[in-house]
Amino acid sequence: MIVKPRIRGFICTTAHPTGCRAHVDAQIASVQGRGSFPGTRGALVLGCSGGFGLASRIVAGFGCGADTIGVSFEKPPGLKRTATAGWYNNRAFEDAAKGQGRQALTFDGDAFADETRERVIAAIAKHMGQIDLLVYSLAAPVRTNPRTGEQFRSAIKPLGEPLAVKSLDVNKGEVREIVLPPADEDETAATVQVMGGEDWEWWIDALLSADVLAPGFKTVAYSYLGSDLTARIYREGTLGRAKADVDRAAAAIQSRLGDIGGEARVAVLKAIVSQASTAIPVVPLYMSILFRVMREQGSHETSIEHIDRLFRDGLYGDAIGGDKDGRLRADARELADSVQIEVRRRWDLVDSDNIGALSDLDQFRDEFLALFGFGFDGIDYDADVDPMDGT
Ligand code: NAD
Repeated sequence: MIVKPRIRGFICTTAHPTGCRAHVDAQIASVQGRGSFPGTRGALVLGCSGGFGLASRIVAGFGCGADTIGVSFEKPPGLKRTATAGWYNNRAFEDAAKGQGRQALTFDGDAFADETRERVIAAIAKHMGQIDLLVYSLAAPVRTNPRTGEQFRSAIKPLGEPLAVKSLDVNKGEVREIVLPPADEDETAATVQVMGGEDWEWWIDALLSADVLAPGFKTVAYSYLGSDLTARIYREGTLGRAKADVDRAAAAIQSRLGDIGGEARVAVLKAIVSQASTAIPVVPLYMSILFRVMREQGSHETSIEHIDRLFRDGLYGDAIGGDKDGRLRADARELADSVQIEVRRRWDLVDSDNIGALSDLDQFRDEFLALFGFGFDGIDYDADVDPMDGT
């Protein structure tokens, strides 16, 4: 099969097996280039197949030398269809980790389901005994509450008044004003159900009662606050409500970890190009400008560099500080005044004619395609590949 990108809106429906492997290998090499450091020895990563979750699994496995268990929601290949990118990423990670003599188990299933929790806990008990780190990095559109059977769908919307705002059509390179309607109460509550902290609490409860958490266990959930430019769609919108619920859950979990001397933190991260973030209105335009400004000012980080720093300097170091709410603030470089003032200046000027000059739109597109394994040097994208690679 010759695999080319097939883009539908903000998703690519194909993934290149060899390219995904190259993407994972490059992230592993990036971590190895910075050397090993003491940290986790056994980690569970929920949302392990892409974005910050994959980066976390790679830093745990190749920075700290940990055995890892990952959970994601990815589709295997068929005879005439490629797998999802995350499925190939998982195979590439497992091969590389096993090549280094580390355990790497991956479960593809619904992380919100009790059945998945039971399978994962059984695997921890059997293969690892205990874990000392849980990274909560799910980004999902839907959650079925396993206790009630009720299904919730998140709505990424502002609250209160409609929001008229600039937005970017990434494929066409057009900047135009869009109007986003506000969420109603049901949509807001549903988004909290999907992206809030309840499921994180339930994972910890289940792991605690199965006695598979090691003394000194740490858990971290990822969050975003962002700047004033994205505030109405993010931190003051439905997603912000969900992330406030994650903060609540961190405090609740912390109080339950006392007996094992554990720690529960929220880490606030920078914006990166991921499958989840490109689906949020406004954010692609903000990121395209942000990345250009951060590159010009020498403070840009890729997702793997960012998570590597979070682990070394934050989770297992003391160079990244906490804020008044106890959250680890790895996002300080994005929110630096020098960056935000320049992003705001460009935001006011940007239109379809000058987008190329004011932003890194081309790199944004390249990074988006890289998520699906496209655009890597040394890969012949006109050659036949086996979509079943890794099965
Ligand atoms: P992503 O889309 O790259 O990855 C999401 C992961 O969740 C994938 O592994 C996917 O398979 C998994 N997943 C989705 N639904 C699932 C389900 N039902 N069961 C099991 N796995 C499921 O997302 P990302 O951008 O890396 O986001 C991860 C976390 O980081 C989120 O909490 C997000 O809010 C946070 N964050 C992201 C950014 C950003 O700019 N991307 C910034 C700050 C914080």
